[in-house]
Amino acid sequence: MIEHMSHEIQIIPIPAFHDNYIWLIHDGQNAAVVDPGDALPVLNTLNTLNLHLEAILITHHHQDHIGGVDTLLAHFPHIKIYAPALEHYNFQHIAVRDCDQISVANWLNTVSVISLPGHTLGHVAFYLEQDKAHYLFCGDTLFGAGCGRLFEGMPVQMFDSLKKLASLPGDTLVFCAHEYTLHNINFALSLEPNNQALIERKQQTTRLIEQLKPSLPSTIRLERATNPFLRCHSDEIKTALQLKNAEDLEIFTKIRLLRNSY
Ligand SMILES: [Zn+2]
Repeated sequence: MIEHMSHEIQIIPIPAFHDNYIWLIHDGQNAAVVDPGDALPVLNTLNTLNLHLEAILITHHHQDHIGGVDTLLAHFPHIKIYAPALEHYNFQHIAVRDCDQISVANWLNTVSVISLPGHTLGHVAFYLEQDKAHYLFCGDTLFGAGCGRLFEGMPVQMFDSLKKLASLPGDTLVFCAHEYTLHNINFALSLEPNNQALIERKQQTTRLIEQLKPSLPSTIRLERATNPFLRCHSDEIKTALQLKNAEDLEIFTKIRLLRNSY
């Protein structure tokens, strides 16, 4: 029933700060943005593409994800803003929780909210199925070949959050909030130097970065094959860490610790 309403959508990255991406979803007329840390690049893009902003989706409370909200709200007073229920926000918003199905805009199918504690305790992702494609906006939880730092959560929380994302359909497009992929791949290769998918990903990503193109979106399938935080079961990783008989959670905790100082 909802399918008839679906429009062709496009998703484009708006670079912000040093390495953030603000993802803009639009149907040629109306738009929604995810994690607008800065308003000016969003306003410029809306202007250039002649789009009207209808909604803002917030994954977590860090300033580089919300810093542009007040200014965007001043320009578009009627927009709907969705933000995690477990976090505090000073701007007016609709609080969202795990498993919520939200109607962001009439040109989008219902968006599912996925709770992902770890980077922050209230962190959520937004998951959309439209035009036979799957889209995941995962903020600072899953990165290209990496994951977010544990600022608030325990390793087990992030480990479980990443397992939820790894169970999504393999063709899900993954829209992360930072361009960290190449550095993450180099770290991953230090643990799994013989992972052929990882070696190929480094070649492809290096080419993209040299051409000043984003390495994203990724896919869940590619992350399962190359992201060490989703590969804690890998014998090569366990051997590299000299933790051959360790549980996957212990491997995850060790990899996160090593990545902090890589
Ligand atoms: Zn963050």
